[in-house]
Amino acid sequence: MRSNLRDVNRNYPSFILSLRSKISTINMNKIALITGGTGYIGSWVCKYLLEEGYSLRVTVRSKTNTRKFAHLEAMAAGSKGKLAFWEADLLKEGSFNEAAKGCEVIYHIASPFILKVKDAQKELIDPAVMGTKNVLQAATQSGTVKKVILTSSSAAVYGDAADMTNQGLTAFSEAQWNTTSALTHQPYSYSKVSAEKAAWEIANAQQEWKLVVINPTFVMGPALTPASDSESIKLIKDYLTGKFITGVPELRFGIVDVRDVAKAHILAEQNANAAGRHIINNLTLTMLEIGNLIKKVTGKSFGLPFMTAPTWLMASIGFLFGVTRDFVNKNAGYPLIFDNSKSKTALKLTYRNVEDTMKDMIDSMKKQGIV
Ligand code: NAP
Repeated sequence: MRSNLRDVNRNYPSFILSLRSKISTINMNKIALITGGTGYIGSWVCKYLLEEGYSLRVTVRSKTNTRKFAHLEAMAAGSKGKLAFWEADLLKEGSFNEAAKGCEVIYHIASPFILKVKDAQKELIDPAVMGTKNVLQAATQSGTVKKVILTSSSAAVYGDAADMTNQGLTAFSEAQWNTTSALTHQPYSYSKVSAEKAAWEIANAQQEWKLVVINPTFVMGPALTPASDSESIKLIKDYLTGKFITGVPELRFGIVDVRDVAKAHILAEQNANAAGRHIINNLTLTMLEIGNLIKKVTGKSFGLPFMTAPTWLMASIGFLFGVTRDFVNKNAGYPLIFDNSKSKTALKLTYRNVEDTMKDMIDSMKKQGIV
């Protein structure tokens, strides 16, 4: 008995070492399909998964457009994981079928996040809804996919800030659905709620894979790519280039760091008990407070807004900023609060300091040559 104990003690360090290496290889070569991996949020999801040793299949619209994914190749070169690109388009039926075969998990992140559109149906609703249907059909056809993490949005929870007051709520939670957006009013939000509803309908009609949904508010923080069309990057670029110098409307945004959003996706995948929707939000800021935050972290005030413009004025001249009178009337001046408690308890997500979020975002935009 004593000699057995001695043996265990003698072998203790190697036993621990082998256990540690077993734990660190759990995700080694786990095959995951990522749509939207080239984008602002998707690039961070790829970075963390590559660091954990996943084998990633990232879908791109064209393998010839290397500017969209060169940063991912550089990232993979120094990581434990593997990276391969597969061509697929949200609008093409069956596009994701081949890439999904053999995968254990799908992160469906791709969807256009653009606010200025000429044809909302073509540019927003079709890629969001048809894309989601195509990707989920690929999950079912694969025979191997067990879990799908869908990037929805807080825009699938509410349409206008006025909804909170009108529904008599003190905060938006996962229980709410956006019922006020339409093709002609807040079409991006309409695309997100339509896509998420379609996803739940498909998920609930089968038993091959489990759906878990991430609903981030407005995402900020460092960009890993210079080639994203995300409104997150555009908004901060607008601040830095003086678009709001004359003032901003009294609009509020839920704000969350892109790194926290990426981690939420991975926690949702790795936690077997994760289920349903998850609001991912750090705090709410007005547009003026965002400007003040930029001032604080950069030490510069030139070109930044110094006042909130009256709502009646914004309703009249909002078109100059790409917003309608209806949008201003249903959003400016209304409170906006999100309940993020599920993200903290169910996913054990912790949130970064918003000053770090903004400082790191501006530093990265300079580094990427965006500003
Ligand atoms: P992004 O940088 O523009 O990323 C969008 C991604 O979708 C890109 O990888 C893009 O591919 C891909 N995509 C767009 N249309 C496609 C199509 N027809 N076929 C295939 N791929 C297509 O924007 P993001 O901010 O990271 O947004 C990513 C996701 O997060 C979206 O679902 C968005 O709704 C959601 N979200 C964003 C925020 C936010 O504040 N940023 C908040 C909540 C939810 P390319 O590289 O080819 O352009």
